[in-house]
Amino acid sequence: MGKRKETNTIVVHCSASKPEQLVDFDTIKRWHMMERAFIDIGYHWVIERDGTVKQGRPIDDWGAHVKGHNHESVGICLVGGLDSDCKPQDNFTEKQKRMLKFLVAGCLNLWPEAKVVGHTHLDQEKACPSFDVCAWLAQEGFVAEGEE
Ligand SMILES: [Zn+2]
Repeated sequence: MGKRKETNTIVVHCSASKPEQLVDFDTIKRWHMMERAFIDIGYHWVIERDGTVKQGRPIDDWGAHVKGHNHESVGICLVGGLDSDCKPQDNFTEKQKRMLKFLVAGCLNLWPEAKVVGHTHLDQEKACPSFDVCAWLAQEGFVAEGEE
């Protein structure tokens, strides 16, 4: 898809899988390439259960993770987010949340004007990423952005 011209949104996702499922970067890449016929994994980063961060698309490239906003955003995906009944659940590991904090801070360094949101904020039909990103940002001490 080529390079983005702007980056004004950082979108947090989850893989919508159960914690005990063996899902990692390669699994998600396979899902995206085989089931959705993407040329690559749709996200820019994946944070695996043990906190390992893997880079997907190059950070300046278009991602494929959020309808209508791929031209202006980067996507970070945490593995997990479903309970045993396949309902949304904030079951991410402490290490994942810690790495998310580092990643978000890094992104805000690169793109200070960017807004950090959960997928559900841009697409209300999704429960993704199974936790309140706004509340998490406040809890982690990120300065709240002014309203749009
Ligand atoms: Zn999502």
